[in-house]
Order: sequence, then structure tokens, then C-alpha cells
Amino acid sequence: MTAKDRTRGAARCADCGRAMAVRLSGSAVLHPIGSTNGCPCGGTEFHELE
Ligand SMILES: [Zn+2]
Repeated sequence: MTAKDRTRGAARCADCGRAMAVRLSGSAVLHPIGSTNGCPCGGTEFHELE
């Protein structure tokens, strides 16, 4: 699997810093897997972990 074909990755919540598995589209982090509404803290912005 190449990097551009990834659909899952790890990201950190921009709000609380919680790391979680997320669904990806290209370089964009869409939403945490299993939580389409975002982080349990209410954050909806995530930064992908390299
Ligand atoms: Zn959070």
C-alpha cells in the first residue's frame, strides 16, 4: 500500500491532543474512525501524525 492510497491513519486532536485512528482522504484527515462527530472532547480539527 502506498502513501497516497492510505485510507486510515493516526491523527491528534487539535483541541485536546488526543491521538486516535482516523479516516483519511489523500492528505486530508476526515474524521476519527468510529466517531464521525469528531473527538470526544468536541474537537473537529485533527492533525495527521507522521
Ligand atoms: Zn479532542
